[in-house]
Amino acid sequence: MGQKTVAVIGAGIGGLSAAARLADAGYRVHVFEKNPDPGGKARVLRGDGFRFDKGPSLMTMPFVFQDYFEELREDFEDYLRFERLNINCQYFFSDCTTLNAYADKELFSVEIANKTKDDEESVTRFFEHCQQLYDRTADTFLFNSPLQALKQVNTSNLSTLLHINALGIFTSLDKVNRNFFNDARTVQLFNRYATYNGSSPFHAPATFLIIPHVEFAFGAYNVIGGIYSIPDALSRLARKKGVSFHFKKEASKIIHEDHRIKGLRLQDGIFDCDLVVANSDVRNTYNVLLGDHNSPLGLLYNRKESSSSALVFYWGVKGDFDNLQIHNIFFSNDYHNEFKEIFRYKQCPRDPTVYINITSKYVKSDAPEQCENWFVMINAPYAAGQNWQDETQKTRRRILEKLRKTLDIDVEKRIIFESVWTPVDIERETGSCMGSLYGMASNSPTGAFLRQQNKSFLYRGLYFCGGTTHPGGGMPLALISGKIAADFVKRDAA
Ligand SMILES: Cc1cc2nc3c(=O)[nH]c(=O)nc-3n(C[C@H](O)[C@H](O)[C@H](O)COP(=O)(O)OP(=O)(O)OC[C@H]3O[C@@H](n4cnc5c(N)ncnc54)[C@H](O)[C@@H]3O)c2cc1C
Repeated sequence: MGQKTVAVIGAGIGGLSAAARLADAGYRVHVFEKNPDPGGKARVLRGDGFRFDKGPSLMTMPFVFQDYFEELREDFEDYLRFERLNINCQYFFSDCTTLNAYADKELFSVEIANKTKDDEESVTRFFEHCQQLYDRTADTFLFNSPLQALKQVNTSNLSTLLHINALGIFTSLDKVNRNFFNDARTVQLFNRYATYNGSSPFHAPATFLIIPHVEFAFGAYNVIGGIYSIPDALSRLARKKGVSFHFKKEASKIIHEDHRIKGLRLQDGIFDCDLVVANSDVRNTYNVLLGDHNSPLGLLYNRKESSSSALVFYWGVKGDFDNLQIHNIFFSNDYHNEFKEIFRYKQCPRDPTVYINITSKYVKSDAPEQCENWFVMINAPYAAGQNWQDETQKTRRRILEKLRKTLDIDVEKRIIFESVWTPVDIERETGSCMGSLYGMASNSPTGAFLRQQNKSFLYRGLYFCGGTTHPGGGMPLALISGKIAADFVKRDAA
């Protein structure tokens, strides 16, 4: 049989990752992307001299990207440069406490001991626990497919299975944090890590404490040139490996015969191919592209709760704000209620936790002289028929009021550029089901483990990648998903 043709649906980080790897392995690879450029959730917004990364702002697990380029025999430094942060985030609590999450764990422990009722030892024990979770789960659940683990039992995945009880699956993240810490502020700080995959700390399993381990053991990074440099670098690499890109081309159906992949239906015709790698949101892949909403997996995924979405304000602000860091969090007073409003009542919180990222603090060209580019985000419910104009206005007022109280600044007067991204915009622009950021939420013990695997068992020649599939959401995991999907393709051909 001659060279096989692969169609990749979507040029998000997962799709780009799979595409370059498959082209490198000798496949003829075509990427179909409905937008005019790559990146998906990680695209760019420009206006009035300001530049904003539209979605992701925090970069972790740099080695995942470095390894990816090296495995394709490319010099990582020719494509991307990361710079480690000294302060991962500055926290503002509702009682006026300000606390710096120093990248150095010892400094961070001292800061917690100085600012809260918890001591350095509790922080050390907490991080030891997080590291243990990471050591037990990473190999089987992060870097590989658990399906492979079931096939090839080795000492690492056997140890994971034997310690299943110790993985924190049946305990909430909040509960474990409360076991380690006495002070509500420390608990709130570490509870926040559930939002890194769009879940609630009061329901997500404590297994997600691997996230603070990852952030503090491997660091949090600035990406020189902005986050968009990541999809840009991946597309350059993919082109170099021979991938053909087709922008403004939306796939409307995956064509199959006798459960074997035959091609894609596009607006202007049929594209014949042997294999499809779907980087589209898994639920859209089942419901729309396969028309399979009634299949067992389609039914399962449609029944599952979606992860949270975001309401993002891009503000070009006049002034230099020395009291703000690159990453800043202004916490709500009642975290429990905030998540209840998001997940149960599906409304934007009345007292939202506000995240502000300012890249112009290190990339001067991201804002005009004496101005800053503020990416202002709150966790919001996924789109479920809310009136987003109304939610946006109310949230804007609440954020401005919180900033006025905390920083004693009238930010509204200083806004000279403004744009908004609501959950419905996110859905329309990125194809994410209901605008949820990470596919299905992990608000149950099994949520994280029942994600779509990277290979279909129903359709021969269909593979999945991206933040809604295994191993999960976020840029490094989306990259890994593409690698795992490509490796399944290669293994199936062997
Ligand atoms: C506001 C926000 C903040 C975030 N913050 C962070 C962060 O700080 N750190 C972090 O690591 N991650 C963050 N994330 C998550 C991160 O952006 C995603 O997990 C990751 O980028 C997802 O990549 P993906 O491979 O799933 O592709 P996606 O980005 O979901 O892209 C999928 C692509 O497929 C295309 N597509 C879909 N259907 C079709 C079709 N039928 N035909 C053609 N094309 C199609 C879409 O247009 C899109 O370009 C954030 C996301 C958002 C939105």
